[in-house]
Amino acid sequence: MLDDLAHPILLLGTFTTCKKTGLQKQPSFKFTNFTSIIPPFFIFKMGIIFDIKRFAVHDGPGIRTTVFMKGCPLSCQWCHNPESISAAICTVPKTVRIGNKTFTENEIVGREMTVEEVMKELCREKIFMEETGGGVTFSGGEPLQQADFLQEMLNACKAERMHATVDTSGFSSWKTLEKIAENTDLFLYDLKLIDDALHKTYTGVSNKLMLENLEKLLEKGKKVRIRIPAIPGITFTEVNIQQTLNYLSKLKFKVEGVDLLPYHNTASHKYERFGLEYKLGELKTIKKTDLAETKQRFEKAGFEVKIGG
Ligand code: SF4
Repeated sequence: MLDDLAHPILLLGTFTTCKKTGLQKQPSFKFTNFTSIIPPFFIFKMGIIFDIKRFAVHDGPGIRTTVFMKGCPLSCQWCHNPESISAAICTVPKTVRIGNKTFTENEIVGREMTVEEVMKELCREKIFMEETGGGVTFSGGEPLQQADFLQEMLNACKAERMHATVDTSGFSSWKTLEKIAENTDLFLYDLKLIDDALHKTYTGVSNKLMLENLEKLLEKGKKVRIRIPAIPGITFTEVNIQQTLNYLSKLKFKVEGVDLLPYHNTASHKYERFGLEYKLGELKTIKKTDLAETKQRFEKAGFEVKIGG
């Protein structure tokens, strides 16, 4: 299933409007599984969030708050957030050292939040967003996996005049992406491998849908920055870089720019914690300077390029 993993619940009560934000407040409520009760009760959606990062400077323009949403249909071997791939809230063991002693405690990854709860967090940083031309970035995981919740979040951001960016692989039905695009100011769009067979090997899915969706977004006039993770020997190869350059140069409509994201292997310990196999083993970390020549190649072809997003 590609879309719509947000799960509906029923909230019982009446909505009021927050005087400060103009947003609808949740009623005081009891909730229950939605199949057991019928209207006139309200159906309300919640999202599953696994982190909210304040003062992010690599997730779009200005100072941003990044909302990390759970669930991803891909399984990129280099994924830095393996805890985000499962759509479910889960418990993982966490090792804590105090002096000479080691303790293991359980950490819950993911929590359900309403649109209003997330907006409350976002509004705390509004002044920094406004001063720096920043905003909010929805990332993951794959935010399109919780498309209904994401759409409500984007509507709320628009009402608050917050710049909204969606960081996506583009692996979703066009119908879903088109709806999401309405209130999205900027897409950060992953382009990992142009060779489809290699894309399937390293991410678990074909890139066909993603490339089609990218072209449709550009055709609609949406702003898109391409993000290329530079993984040594996989995406950061002469062949893939040249193929990516050729592909982007031939597009009918131009992208806003290109971000080259240097690989670092700091995620390997996370895999251990989550009991997952880190298939990439000991890959060499890429330094910013290693990407200087690639940056120049893209710039020569007419693209605005940043290293590190
Ligand atoms: S698309 Fe992103 S979140 Fe999903 S598996 Fe790949 S790197 Fe991880």
